[in-house]
Amino acid sequence: MATITPKIQKARAGLIRRLAETDPPGKVLSLYVDLDPAKFATPPARESQVKSLTNEAESMVEQFDRESKMPLREDVRLVREFLLGDFDWTSEARSVAIFASTGNGMFDVLKLPEPVERGVFIDDRPHVLPIQDLVEQETWCVLLVSRDVERIFIGSPITLKEYDESREDVRGQHDQGGWSQRRFANVVEEDVEDHLKKVAERILALHKATEFDHIVVAADEELWPRISERLHSYVSQITVGRIDADIQMATAEDLQTKLKSIAARQEAEREQELIGRLKEGLANDGRAAGGLERVLAAFNEARVETLLLAEDFSASGVTCPTCGYLGVSEGTCPVDRESTDRLDDIVPRLVERAGELAADTVTVRNPRALEDSRGIAALLRF
Ligand SMILES: [Zn+2]
Repeated sequence: MATITPKIQKARAGLIRRLAETDPPGKVLSLYVDLDPAKFATPPARESQVKSLTNEAESMVEQFDRESKMPLREDVRLVREFLLGDFDWTSEARSVAIFASTGNGMFDVLKLPEPVERGVFIDDRPHVLPIQDLVEQETWCVLLVSRDVERIFIGSPITLKEYDESREDVRGQHDQGGWSQRRFANVVEEDVEDHLKKVAERILALHKATEFDHIVVAADEELWPRISERLHSYVSQITVGRIDADIQMATAEDLQTKLKSIAARQEAEREQELIGRLKEGLANDGRAAGGLERVLAAFNEARVETLLLAEDFSASGVTCPTCGYLGVSEGTCPVDRESTDRLDDIVPRLVERAGELAADTVTVRNPRALEDSRGIAALLRF
């Protein structure tokens, strides 16, 4: 039997997006292992989780038709062998996702920076829904600047890391007295100006290379206007504002906490705006759909611009294997009279379809916002 080596990688948005679009000829086994240190710190605890997950996978496989069963059994065997082997798949990860369709050369192991609930899924594509949020993470840059220090952090609110640290040689500000003190002070101010100018240039260069979505600056009240007026317009238009942080000592974790709350605030604002458009669309101009049936109709007409889902929304539905028609109840497809397939959970299919339409999928956190639409709505393009 051919051997296949698992590809162990850190999860990155691009990689997850690529996996989500992979559609191999057979079924794909997706498995999530939780490495939360509070629950699974010890090797025996991890081992028993792996055993119960792979046992669960084994019994799921037996529900498939003969054609799918054989390669899936092999996938489960290889995944179990890998997870119980001595590969280093637990380091630097809070959870691990595995996507296997080994007969088609797929055996991807993703180390995730956040805990994800354990689970087993068998589907036509890699089941990436539990890590969809990672794909939607935007890139942030945090600049910490004082009169003589500049530190830069880059990443998402959960993956932020220090990029580089450079401490410039700005002469110390000792009390010298008299004429010499004034002159000395001038030189130091010039050095500070020069330092700020270099910082602004560096941020612009990094932004050109990385394309940040947001920039946050930590500087004291006195320095903030001086640095902000030096930032290039490309940089200042994505600068969210100033935060307080210990310029010398702040750690990536400290800044992650701050970014998470800024991001949550931005998300709440965006959500409010979308819900406003939804209300208006439902009441007036018809550029919105509320409730599963109407949303599915909008998908069938390729009109969806933004799919809005309540956090706990789930529903079953049907789809036509030939044309992709989506509906709520079983029967024949109204387009081509093909008999429809039942989907126990229609959400992953809708997220996928939204992706195909280049529509956003937004999980609405405010539990009341989608009450009238029973948990699902869409903003429409026309
Ligand atoms: Zn059809």
